[in-house]
Amino acid sequence: MNLDIITYERAFENVMDSSFSTAIEQISFVNSLGRVLAADVASDIDMPPFNKATVDGFACRKSELINELEIIETIRAGKSPEKALGRQQCTRIMTGAAIPSGADCVIMVEDTEILPTGKVIFKGSFTKENIAFKSEDIKIGDIVLKAGNLVRPQDIAVMAAVGCTTLSVSSMPRVAIISSGDELVEPFEQPDLFKIRNSNAYQLMAQVERAGAIGKYYGIARDDEEDTFTIVKKAISENDLVLITGGVSMGDFDFIPSILEKTGVRILFTRVAVQPGKPTTFGIHPKALVFGLPGNPVSAFMIFELFVRPLIYRMMGNQWQPLTRMLPMKENFSRRYAERMTWLPVKITDDGLVSTVEFHGSAHISALHEADGVISMPIGVKTLKKGEIVNVRQV
Ligand code: AMP
Ligand code: MG
Repeated sequence: MNLDIITYERAFENVMDSSFSTAIEQISFVNSLGRVLAADVASDIDMPPFNKATVDGFACRKSELINELEIIETIRAGKSPEKALGRQQCTRIMTGAAIPSGADCVIMVEDTEILPTGKVIFKGSFTKENIAFKSEDIKIGDIVLKAGNLVRPQDIAVMAAVGCTTLSVSSMPRVAIISSGDELVEPFEQPDLFKIRNSNAYQLMAQVERAGAIGKYYGIARDDEEDTFTIVKKAISENDLVLITGGVSMGDFDFIPSILEKTGVRILFTRVAVQPGKPTTFGIHPKALVFGLPGNPVSAFMIFELFVRPLIYRMMGNQWQPLTRMLPMKENFSRRYAERMTWLPVKITDDGLVSTVEFHGSAHISALHEADGVISMPIGVKTLKKGEIVNVRQV
C-alpha cells in the first residue's frame, strides 16, 4: 500500500470515478422529496388544458370596452361555458374558468361598475388580456422533469399536475458508520478520565441523512484488529458505502488501512493534501466503497462534505454542487504553511463580509457550529487580503 499523499483534486477524481449507480425503485410521488429521478417525467396533458381566466371579472371583446355590456351567463371554475358572446355581450367569469368563445380579454371586477340596467361598464383606462392560453406552460408529451433531478417540493407540484403519481427513483445508498478507538464512550455515558464521547458517529449519521442516504450505525470498534476486522467485514457486506472514523493516523493502533486490505478493499489513497483531513483513506471493495475518515470530528465532517456527500449524490445519478457565495474578506488572513489546501470555517457578517472563525484545530467542534460556511486556500497560497473575493461554501 504505502501510497503517496495526493492532491484534493486527484482524490476527488478517484472517488467520483469509483462511483456506481444504486438500483432503481418505484415510489409514490408523495414520498419523493429529496429523492433523485431515475427516468424523465413527461406530461400527459396540455397546461393549461384550455384558455382560462387569470382574474375574476368579465370576459368580453377588447374592441367593445367603450360600450355597456350585457351579462349573458356566469362561468365558474370547472364548468363549461354554455354560450358564445354576441355583439356587446360579456360573461361574468371566475379565476381558473374557461374563456367563452368570442371573448379575447377578461376585465377585472375592480375596473368595472354594474349599471342600474344590469349591464356592465369598464371604468379602467387599460386592460391586459388576463387569459392563460391553452398549453402555454406545458404541451402534452413535454419532458417536465429530467432524470437526475433531485426532487424539491415545487417538483412534486409538477408531478401532481401531470398525473405522475408513481415514479422511478434511484435507491438511497446504504451507508455504514463505524467509530473506532478505545477512548470512546457513547454520548449518553459519562466519560471517565482520559475518555471522550463519540461525536463522529452521530454527526455522520446526520450528514448521511442530509445527503439523502440511509445511515446504519455499527457501534464502536475497539483498537483491536480482530474486533475491527469483524465489524468492517459485516458492514461491507451489508452496505453500498462504509465510513470508519479514527484509526487512520500514524499511531501504533491506527491499523484501519491494513484491515481494509485484509477484507479485500483495494486502497486508492491513504493521505490527501488537505487541512483538516490529511489522514483520509479511500478504497474499493466489490461490494462497497470504503472511507477511513480521520478521527477528529472537524476533519471527519469536512472530508464527508468534500468527498462523501458528492459521491452519495453521484451514486443516485445527481450532479450535486455545493451552495456557494462570492463575498469579500473582512480582514487579512494568513497561514504559516501552505503545503496543503486548507478549509477554514468562516462567518458572514451582517454587512456581507467574510470573517474567519477562531479555530484551534480539527478537534474544535464548536468552531464549525459557529461557522456559516468554509473557504478554501489552495496549495501555495499563504494569505488572503482584506477585500479579496472568496467563495464561501455552505456546510
Ligand atoms: P485517530 O485517528 O484514531 O488517531 O483519532 C484522532 C483523534 O480523533 C483522537 O484525538 C481521537 O480521540 C479523536 N476521535 C477519534 N474518534 C472519535 C470520535 N468518534 N468522536 C470524537 N473524537 C474522536
Ligand atoms: Mg484512534
